[in-house]
Amino acid sequence: MPWPASPELLTPLAPWFERVRRDLPWRAADLEAPHPDPYAVLVSELMLQQTQVATVVPYFTRWLDEFPDPRALANAEDDAVHKAWEGLGYYRRARFLKATATSVAAEGWPADLAGLAKLPGLGPYTAAAVGAIAFQWPTPALDGNAFRVLARLLLIDGDPKDRAADLRFWLAPALGALGPSRLTQALMELGATVCRPSPACERCPLAGHCAAKLAGRTGEIPPVAKRAKSTSSALWLVAFEAEGHVLLHAPTPKGLLAGLWRWPTFLATVHLPQATAQNPQPTRAWPGWTQVYTHRREALSPLHIVLADRFTPAAGLRWVARGELQGLPLGKRDQRLRDLLDRPGQGPLEAPDPAALIKACAAPSV
Ligand code: SF4
Repeated sequence: MPWPASPELLTPLAPWFERVRRDLPWRAADLEAPHPDPYAVLVSELMLQQTQVATVVPYFTRWLDEFPDPRALANAEDDAVHKAWEGLGYYRRARFLKATATSVAAEGWPADLAGLAKLPGLGPYTAAAVGAIAFQWPTPALDGNAFRVLARLLLIDGDPKDRAADLRFWLAPALGALGPSRLTQALMELGATVCRPSPACERCPLAGHCAAKLAGRTGEIPPVAKRAKSTSSALWLVAFEAEGHVLLHAPTPKGLLAGLWRWPTFLATVHLPQATAQNPQPTRAWPGWTQVYTHRREALSPLHIVLADRFTPAAGLRWVARGELQGLPLGKRDQRLRDLLDRPGQGPLEAPDPAALIKACAAPSV
């Protein structure tokens, strides 16, 4: 059966959004005009990928204070950019934002959707969202929330992402009729606050003609995606300290923790009794925790090993003055050990042999 026309189905979203919309610092008051600050829209869209609105708000405000426009961000040091992102996770987004700001500072904003989609880190969704919200282009932006709302509204069986091209074509007339910025934000708001995985249909402005609701099938549409298998590992997370310095991996340009400083880690396979006459280094430990990443879990045991002298570190590791530690960008896992260093610990019941760990971190002797 063909879908009913989009303006007909989606019109109730406009007055609903005017009534309920949250006052967020990146939202413009005027939903008809192009946004006065496209850069603010871009920052908010990158921050909102994978992160809740409530978490993003204070980061967004601090970010705009520190890097108020594309040129300020383009000229910022990488460490400062990662530091401002510290705690938001998925740090690739910060690097993409800087790369995009660099392009915009040099060449200005692209003139169309294809140009936006070529900017670093702007996939089809983010490019379309920035096009609609910042520039009022009728570019249909489909993220997970929008796919869920539309799959239910139109009773789409199977993965709605497989119908992305059809849905974009279907949505375009409603963007023209209701306003690209207004409709894009209204769909996002409905998916985030009402048509959640467990929907609150009694509060929904579309309930009167939502096909999944009328068919009693909201619980099964869209189908829940299967999660990829995650791997797990048990690690020592180690802060070596000597002569007022701590040992860290310097940031690398690629990988899960790219751009961030990291403590050395070691597979927790070596267990020796606690400090003895043969193992005299003062060692502190704290209760461990499990760090969960998208496809990986780490069971971490934090350690602080104080040495009399610095050794020559292996490639990629650096001794950093302890006083500089607070100013460096660290991921959540590594921030946690940084903060533990200021708290009392206890001698571990079992600890790895420090000599073995030092050997792993030291430059090969010649
Ligand atoms: S009626 Fe329910 S399932 Fe349908 S769009 Fe609204 S909240 Fe979602």
